[in-house]
Amino acid sequence: MEHSIDDLHFLGSGSAFNPEMDNTSAWFVRGDMFFLLDCGETVFGKIWNLPEFTFATSIAVILTHMHCDHVGSLGTLLSYCKLVLGKQVTVFYPSDNLEPYLRLVGIAPQFYSHVREVPPAWGIAISVHHVEHADDMDCFGYVIQLDDLSFYYSGDAADIPEAVLSQFLDGAIDIMFHDTGTNQSVFHCPLSRLARRIPPEYRGRVISMHVPSKEFVDTILDAGFKVVVV
Ligand SMILES: [Zn+2]
Ligand SMILES: [Zn+2]
Repeated sequence: MEHSIDDLHFLGSGSAFNPEMDNTSAWFVRGDMFFLLDCGETVFGKIWNLPEFTFATSIAVILTHMHCDHVGSLGTLLSYCKLVLGKQVTVFYPSDNLEPYLRLVGIAPQFYSHVREVPPAWGIAISVHHVEHADDMDCFGYVIQLDDLSFYYSGDAADIPEAVLSQFLDGAIDIMFHDTGTNQSVFHCPLSRLARRIPPEYRGRVISMHVPSKEFVDTILDAGFKVVVV
């Protein structure tokens, strides 16, 4: 099956404090499966009536970490799927923190399936990379192999893991979607650091996301990187 970057549909490209650009999240389909990358506060309202979502035979949510701008509408999504669509969502997040959080927001474990490894039926491969972001939770970036397309989705990350950077520079990773903040960022990747890591000739394959403001988009583009288009 051939895939391109156009098969990844972004719902938002903003950081937590940039509601003008909505929460960073994306979806794609493979066969009759719907995959969602992160499920922040603004996400459920954008997908609940998408035909690709409502008619999918199964739905998977891949979580990078548990800040509100990444899980804020997950509880609603899981209960809507179970109670209205009659579908049990599978959540991929290689951490034990998911269940306690969902219990507190009223989502019992029987409402969803939690997996730490990719079920073979998904037909995709995910390699998991711990990323620097918050000390009090598990934060991951993922290299996702979707048939012939390999992309890295950083989640929120202050830096690029060495293994990911070398695979990207070698061409084993086609596209990198990366958290990009201002040069003052601590918990997110400062644009200056991204520029130090990625030589200019590779920047056309790096697509910034989780950007702090509309005004900052031109600064990222001027540095030779792309920015997620919603
Ligand atoms: Zn975030
Ligand atoms: Zn975060």
